Amino acid sequence: MTRITPKPGIMEIDLYVSGESKLAGHDDVLKLSSNENPLGCSPLAARAFAEAAGHLHRYPSTDHAELRRAIADVHDLDADRIICGVGSDEILQFVTYAYAGQGDEIITTEHGFSMYPILAHMVGAVPVTVAEKDRRIDVDAILAAVTGRTRVVFIANPANPTGTMLSSDELQRLASGLPARVVLVHDGAYTEFAAGFDGGKSLVDQYPNVVMTRTFSKIHGLGGLRIGWGYAQREVIDVLNRLRQPFNLSNAQIAAASAAIRDIAFTEHCATLNAQLRDRLRNSLIQMGIACDESFANFVLARFADADEAAAADAALRAEGILVRRVTGYGFPAALRITVGDEDGVSRVLDCLGRFMQDRR
Ligand code: PMP
Repeated sequence: MTRITPKPGIMEIDLYVSGESKLAGHDDVLKLSSNENPLGCSPLAARAFAEAAGHLHRYPSTDHAELRRAIADVHDLDADRIICGVGSDEILQFVTYAYAGQGDEIITTEHGFSMYPILAHMVGAVPVTVAEKDRRIDVDAILAAVTGRTRVVFIANPANPTGTMLSSDELQRLASGLPARVVLVHDGAYTEFAAGFDGGKSLVDQYPNVVMTRTFSKIHGLGGLRIGWGYAQREVIDVLNRLRQPFNLSNAQIAAASAAIRDIAFTEHCATLNAQLRDRLRNSLIQMGIACDESFANFVLARFADADEAAAADAALRAEGILVRRVTGYGFPAALRITVGDEDGVSRVLDCLGRFMQDRR
């Protein structure tokens, strides 16, 4: 029998593993495994979503004008240079499909977000993984890895799962050092948690080959609705829009996201609370003897003595109904990525790990 074979690269894709949400024996799980907003979404977004239920028979707009206007107003951007998608994952996919193909190279970094190599394989491109330095993206290593076949460079800044961040000088050095034919994707899924950072907007304004991506899944608490967006110069947005299905976002997605981004008070409250609780979580972990870099996102990477200790800590948390993320697949067998929860969530993690570390010492 002849077998149907897929295109080259497809069978090399390691399926994406998402944060678990269920734990046997626990009805009420404290889920800190997917960097979700512990406060949920803005009540205005929930109301807009409910109201959209009255228009389910209507097709949504194809150009997302209402949502792009809202994003542009809040972030002081040009609405014509925004593209919206099904999560920022879809924007990353548009960029990959538009600019890379069979045999091309896509640069990602050692501990980079796991979607990047998946996207590379989807188009038959080769993911080239560049070493990081002390869990930080190494600009020189990226620039040294560029070849004539490089088409795209993916960086998340702040990065997942390390939470570390490049300085604006390092970002400038990266953008200015890349050949103009290479697209630099500045993935800003966690931008809002890094106080005072513009998410790469100034880079986009300066360089025609930079695309910045953002999401409603994190600070806006709409991971379940799947909405993201990208910002780039007009020519790039025109290219990406050609790959977009005309009705990629539903009425409900557009309405909820527009309301969410306009609720600036809620967004600011979430960012302030996250910063306070992130500090508390990190400082307490360090006091217990668990290594933890400064994080600019809504999670911390807790590094244990070895993989066995990380597995035992994970088991201790699970026994109390707390789910965090093992990050072995990201090159951290001895670490756990812990989403910053609400006050009670952070206390529960710290109580559990405090007892765990005391028992071990
Ligand atoms: N980039 C990074 C760095 C992420 O951590 C995530 C979510 N895990 C995404 C992009 C994708 O987010 P979404 O598709 O939900 O917008």
